[in-house]
Amino acid sequence: MLIDDYNRVIDYVRISITDRCNLRCRYCVDGDFPFIPHPEVLSYEEIIRFVRICAPMGVKKVRLTGGEPLARKGLSYLLCELNRIDGIADISLTTNGVFLGDKVEELKQAGLKRVNISLDTMKKDRFAWITGVDAFDKVIESIKKATYSGLHPIKINTVIIKDFNDDEILDFVRIARKWDHEVRFIEFMPFGDSSLWKSTEIVTSGQIEEVIRSKFELVPSERSDKGPARVYDIGGGSGRVGFISPVSSHICAECNRIRLTASGMIRPCLFSDVEYDVKSLIRSGKSDDEIKEFIRAVVKVKPERKLEMGAIRKCQRSLRNIGG
Ligand code: SAM
Repeated sequence: MLIDDYNRVIDYVRISITDRCNLRCRYCVDGDFPFIPHPEVLSYEEIIRFVRICAPMGVKKVRLTGGEPLARKGLSYLLCELNRIDGIADISLTTNGVFLGDKVEELKQAGLKRVNISLDTMKKDRFAWITGVDAFDKVIESIKKATYSGLHPIKINTVIIKDFNDDEILDFVRIARKWDHEVRFIEFMPFGDSSLWKSTEIVTSGQIEEVIRSKFELVPSERSDKGPARVYDIGGGSGRVGFISPVSSHICAECNRIRLTASGMIRPCLFSDVEYDVKSLIRSGKSDDEIKEFIRAVVKVKPERKLEMGAIRKCQRSLRNIGG
């Protein structure tokens, strides 16, 4: 098993398969940004080998993210190969949804069972303003296609930002009820290229919950999976809401994950810029056992907890590279 110095068992790897993205969400990036050159991005074979090495150490869960994972060709091949690995029981995908509708059947055939789709507004014009692309209808169509195709659960990830989309909190709760999906409100985190983040301006999960409770009853959900979200059923109807509070509270004690960045660095803690270069080992002919020992050593030094909110400084990388 992979156990860190604080007795946390690591059984979950989140992998950014590309830093490239078809959207330019203004809270994620400032305008245009340089991509990592292709040769520096891990190949699918390298990602598969990494997961193959992790699985016998107890990793059961893999999430593919980015950048936009569907912006990279051949994702179905990667899914298929990861599905073949003994011990990997759960493979999921985080996507902005723009390309999902066209690929949903192919991804299902490749073994995808569930998906998280990011959506920060239910207003078409605002979507274009936030993302730089007029693709709101495409995303809604993708959510419908994913629903009809039987992917389950479908979770909608929403980042609420002050004076940006905080007037839509209740609309998202209504959408969770209407679509019978889980809408997860994620706090705005201090990453990377965007100059938008200020600790004084985040809308905390507590504040979002207060707005929701003024209109809806929230009942702790029994269907909540193991994970960082606090999940509630919405009283008197279907759908759920979840709160992910990486900034305002400590979810570090339950952290069971490491990240693999698009450029092949292991990042043991989302909030720490300290990363470990596994790509060099993979590319310099090291054996599986040597890489295994490296991963074990990296997990050992996973920080116990992130800094307090006031002390949080901006992480250098953006989430598109780390893997949001
Ligand atoms: N392109 C995919 C998508 O949009 O879901 C995967 C990558 S994206 C970086 C993953 C998630 O990170 C999205 O839900 C996005 O809203 C979120 N994200 C990006 N920057 C963030 C920030 N500074 N704080 C909180 N969430 C952020």
